[in-house]
Amino acid sequence: MTQRTSVEQPDDSGMLGGPVNSVNFDLSDEHQALLNQITRSARARFGALGDRMDREAWWPENGFRMLADLGVLGASVPRTYGGQGLDLFSAGLLGQALGRVEPSIATSWQSHDNLCVNNIYRNGSEYLRRNYLPGLCEGSLVGALGMTEPNAGSDALGGMRTTAVRDGGDYRLNGSKIFITNGPIADVVLVYAKTAPERGNRGISAFVVEKSFSGFRAGPKFDKMGIRGSPTGELFFDDCRVPVRNMIGPEHGGVGVMMSGLDIERGFCSMSVIGATERAFDLALDYAKTRQQFGQAIGSFQMIQSKLAEMYVQLESMKVLAYRALAACNGLEGGQGGRGDIHALTAAAFMIVGENGMKICDEAVQIHGGMGFMRETEVNRIYRAAKIHEIGGGTKEIRRMIIAKELLKR
Ligand SMILES: Cc1cc2nc3c(=O)[nH]c(=O)nc-3n(C[C@H](O)[C@H](O)[C@H](O)COP(=O)(O)OP(=O)(O)OC[C@H]3O[C@@H](n4cnc5c(N)ncnc54)[C@H](O)[C@@H]3O)c2cc1C
Repeated sequence: MTQRTSVEQPDDSGMLGGPVNSVNFDLSDEHQALLNQITRSARARFGALGDRMDREAWWPENGFRMLADLGVLGASVPRTYGGQGLDLFSAGLLGQALGRVEPSIATSWQSHDNLCVNNIYRNGSEYLRRNYLPGLCEGSLVGALGMTEPNAGSDALGGMRTTAVRDGGDYRLNGSKIFITNGPIADVVLVYAKTAPERGNRGISAFVVEKSFSGFRAGPKFDKMGIRGSPTGELFFDDCRVPVRNMIGPEHGGVGVMMSGLDIERGFCSMSVIGATERAFDLALDYAKTRQQFGQAIGSFQMIQSKLAEMYVQLESMKVLAYRALAACNGLEGGQGGRGDIHALTAAAFMIVGENGMKICDEAVQIHGGMGFMRETEVNRIYRAAKIHEIGGGTKEIRRMIIAKELLKR
């Protein structure tokens, strides 16, 4: 008699429950078509701007209107609020497409569309959704997220100094935020502040702050080594008055908003890194085929072939883990996540995309030789941009800490 167990046993061919290709690790035809279409349209609109954005640290004045025209704003927000109505995974593919075209565009877009807009949609009240999402989805409002402070980077919760004190129908915010993507141009910022400092992590709340609120000021943009077109800066709150109804989630409940948002951010932002890395890889492959030395294409040399093979393997492995992590985020409800398997998985995906992305871009520059060292080349621009993916959204060291902490709880 055949022994039956709850775990299916492989048959003689080693297959578990049918042909291996019944488990699909590739994008569906619909996903692939979306990725290709947005890549093509984004290249037509933004492809020629990357060089100037990098040289002059310039963000196009109508950049967010252009993104709205492209159909990528409010990607994961239902159409009733003006969004595109995509699930999180499909929205991430838009990031992969934008990353292929220009990392600065992808960075500013994902900070607006995921860190700010998706967070307001998932955790905000109906008032906040109705008041802010339509403008953010049509590109008339620019969004940002303010968590990091001068003394609160990796220790974002413990080191937070910005406070919010209830005063009648408002909260008064005091403090500052640093390194905020879109900070210098943002109209709407999702800000974390301590409403009960004595309660530690359980005393943080999230607010929607408008640039027009009294006591709010944005500093000038920073001069960065990469993603130079994406404006980054400081935000200052000096008795900034924020109406009570602009609180996101419950009072003192900001840690849930923040931690689930960080999981989604890591899964989501992995996709634009994949896009930028794919572009660096394609440029290197093309150069290997066309650049002649010793009377032949450099791609005929085994050392260059070895680099290309390793880059391919690293790129494919980052895709598998990142796609899996973002697909797992798809089902997260508002406030969920921030702990358990999803916390470790999204940190793992962001770790591998950040680190493999950096290695691949380094080899892509190497394959370009001296030309790769020239600032004006696209491969150099992508290389300088790649470093942020080992720092932002939790550094590569913090990602390891998250993974290990979750593993040790098992
Ligand atoms: C271009 C750019 C855009 C950004 N955009 C945003 C944004 O939109 N919103 C936002 O809120 N923030 C943003 N950030 C901030 C970013 O998330 C932080 O820079 C990042 O979390 C690291 O914090 P830190 O810079 O203070 O470094 P620190 O925390 O001071 O870390 C310095 C070094 O120490 C290491 N370290 C710290 N603690 C430990 C530990 N316990 N064990 C081992 N090593 C440790 C770190 O890994 C790092 O290598 C942005 C940053 C940049 C550069």
